[in-house]
This record gives sequence, C-alpha cells and structure tokens, in this order.
Amino acid sequence: MNPLLRFFLLLWLGAAGPLTADDFDSQRERFLQEITDLAEETALETGRPTFAAPVMAALGRVPRHRFVPEDQVPYAYKNRPLPIGHGQTISQPYIVALMTDLIDPRPDQRVLEIGTGSGYQAAVLAELVGRVFSIEIIEPLALEAADRLRALGYSNIETRAGDGYYGWESAGPFDAILVTAAASHVPPALIRQLKPGGRLVIPVGAHFMAQYLLLVEKKAEGGVTSRQILPVSFVPLTGGEPG
Ligand code: SAH
Repeated sequence: MNPLLRFFLLLWLGAAGPLTADDFDSQRERFLQEITDLAEETALETGRPTFAAPVMAALGRVPRHRFVPEDQVPYAYKNRPLPIGHGQTISQPYIVALMTDLIDPRPDQRVLEIGTGSGYQAAVLAELVGRVFSIEIIEPLALEAADRLRALGYSNIETRAGDGYYGWESAGPFDAILVTAAASHVPPALIRQLKPGGRLVIPVGAHFMAQYLLLVEKKAEGGVTSRQILPVSFVPLTGGEPG
C-alpha cells in the first residue's frame, strides 16, 4: 500500500478505535501537567503555586474516564467540566485539585462533600483522607455514583441521596467540607458541623452572577473567618432555604 495512504488509514483507525489503557496513561500525564501549569498561573489568587504531591498523585490515580458518560470518554482527561446528565457536570479537574488542596487533606480526616454528581471528587478525596461522606440531591445520580464507587473498590466513601444544605448531622462533625455547587450563602448547618480548626470550601454567588470560591475556617474558639480564592462557575446548589 502507498505509505502515505497507509499512514492516513492508521491515523483514521487510531482515531476511530476504542481508547486503550495506554492511551489513558499518556493523556493523564498531560492532564497533570496542565493542572500544575494552571496552579502556577493562579498562584497570586490562590496562594498555592503548587498543589501537594499526594493531591496530584491522587488525581493521577483516579480513572476520570470511569466517571463520565460513554460519549464523553474521549474528553475525560481534558481540563474542563463535562456533562454527566440531569443538567449537571463533573467539575473541571484543576478546580477539583484546588478544592482538595485547600483543605490540606490528611489520612486521619473525616470529610463531607455536598454534590456527589459523578462521584469523582469523592473518589479523589477518598484517596487522601480517612472517610468521605457525600450527599447528592438528584436521586438517580446518587445511585449511579454509589454503584460506580463500589465497583471501583472505594470502601471509605458513604453516599446518600438528599439535600446537602442541611449537611449530614449524624456523621459529623467534619474536619473539612467541600460544596461542589454554588450557593447564595454559606449554609449555617455546614458551619455547625465543622470541627473547630476545620475548613469549608464553597462557591458562593447569586445565580447568573459572579461566583467566588470561598475558603471558610472555623477557629479553635469557634469564630469563623473567610477568604475569597478565585472566580468560578458552578451549577447551582438547589434545595435548602430560599435566599
Ligand atoms: N462533585 C461532582 C460535581 C458536582 S456538580 C463530581 O465530582 O462529579 C454539582 C452537583 O451538586 C450536582 O450533581 C447537583 O445535583 C448537586 N446538588 C445541587 N444542590 C444540591 C443539594 N442541595 N444537596 C446535594 N447535592 C446538590
């Protein structure tokens, strides 16, 4: 066969054929590099020029292609949010890394996530902390994520279908809480369920208005401080109280 024709045939077969584990491995390296580059570019805003090595290693281990619908698999290692059905999205990997890094994850921590979605952020957390509790308000998504996390062997994640605005009182208090949907205000129940010294990371902003990622810290004596980290774009937190 004409070598040029052969080249294009192979190229076409490569593009059309199913992605193999090796393809994912090489995509994942570039994926981690993009996150590292973006961390550096946003260092002035976030105060974190690099993310901790264990956080990056966790991002490298969790198979994001197992958390997206079939038609999104080719884009699983792009640094962008992707649709997961029911009008919801799996967050941008850089944002997952940033939110994870901001809580300084440690193996002895107990962490609550609001907005399980695909379960990806919960899996990244589960690689780093002792126990993860995650709540999702859309029941089919909650069930799908629970099945997926079980199939992947994550035994330190508990999931629940429900309204995360009220937190998960019986499982608390938590060392850290991540909210992965944008709220108009910080839900008071989440502050209450945070341990003294604990951290809460939450996108806050009115619908269709600017949203900011907020890092809230509960001081040892119970007082609360907060700092705006970065402008972000999340799907809205539903449920809870109008506000
Ligand atoms: N963390 C997810 C991305 C979540 S997108 C991931 O890694 O894939 C935000 C999710 O928050 C959506 O699935 C949405 O249904 C859910 N959500 C919105 N409001 C909620 C609420 N009050 N309680 C729990 N989940 C909520």
